[in-house]
Amino acid sequence: LTLLGIESSCDDTAAAVVRLGGAGPEILSSVVLGQTALHEAFGGVVPEIAARAHAERLDGVVAEALAAAGVPLAGLDGIAVTAGPGLIGGVLSGVMLARGLAAATGLPLVAVNHLAGHALTPRLTDGVAFPYLMLLVSGGHCQFLSVEGVDRFRRLGGTIDDAPGEAFDKTAKLLALPQPGGPSVEAEAALGDPGRFRFPRPLLDREGCDLSFSGLKTALLRARDALVAEKGGITLQDRRDLCAGFQAAVAEVLAVKTARALELCGVRPTALCVAGGVAANKAIRARLEAVAERAGVPFLAPPLRLCTDNAAMIAWAGIERRRAGLETPPHFAARPRWPLDETAPALLGSGR
Ligand code: ATP
Ligand code: FE
Repeated sequence: LTLLGIESSCDDTAAAVVRLGGAGPEILSSVVLGQTALHEAFGGVVPEIAARAHAERLDGVVAEALAAAGVPLAGLDGIAVTAGPGLIGGVLSGVMLARGLAAATGLPLVAVNHLAGHALTPRLTDGVAFPYLMLLVSGGHCQFLSVEGVDRFRRLGGTIDDAPGEAFDKTAKLLALPQPGGPSVEAEAALGDPGRFRFPRPLLDREGCDLSFSGLKTALLRARDALVAEKGGITLQDRRDLCAGFQAAVAEVLAVKTARALELCGVRPTALCVAGGVAANKAIRARLEAVAERAGVPFLAPPLRLCTDNAAMIAWAGIERRRAGLETPPHFAARPRWPLDETAPALLGSGR
């Protein structure tokens, strides 16, 4: 079974070819074309610019993925495309291209939920068996998912405001560090004293595994302003200590809530898996690994290029759906919102 995957729901234009053979899955190609430079001047992803860039680049990215895989369109068994959730203009660009290719070749289409793509990645990289716990931590997401089947996800909890990656990015901005904030804050934190500033650990007293990160940002801003008021500015060491304190707070909250999510799974999960850019943080990773070890479950973090947005995960989710006999209705809609626990794609004209 060989599928082409197409992804265009945020600011990466991506295409990939994945094959499932007797020896397991193989990523034949994975092309990701980012748009960071296009949006940089605006301080965030601009939906109209993203949609136009996807529309202009998708053809080329798909052609490149097919060429790199050495598989012609006629050698495919189907086309998997992200049908949501995400910026609707970009999602539509991908869905329209996929529809066009399917119409021209007669290949079947598979509509894939972008979050399902992230959630199923550990099965592509490590063949993890259901059920497992997935912590998605990125610039846009933070949630705990109990992954129980190709089409069965239980959301156990998640952030009630900002995502942790966003908090890292805002922290970097407040402290005049380069973007993306994650790596630069991590580098500063490594040189700082995490005990000097004690930042809040929001929602630890609340049951369940919901998280909150917006208060942390406010606390950091206040600590910085207090230093400025006191001595007219902050020193390099102040900045390192602020970063270390911030990162320690994020790591602790994630660790405590992950331990709770493991308990909330009910059945013992086969693994604790993490995905998303924040999973690259070594301090956070070490805390999560310790939590997994204490619970007696393996810890698994797929390679970063498969943890951040890519199309191999979409092709793989398509293969999983096909293999499970799940059908995509011919008139599926592109959806800006598509909660994972509502698994079937919406139909065109049926609203959401
Ligand atoms: P999504 O794909 O969920 O819509 P996204 O495109 O922002 O969101 P990713 O590309 O997975 O997500 O991750 C980017 C985020 O990860 C950024 O916010 C970045 O600061 C953060 N990040 C990257 N490296 C690190 C790190 N070492 N420590 C903490 N955060 C990090
Ligand atoms: Fe994503």
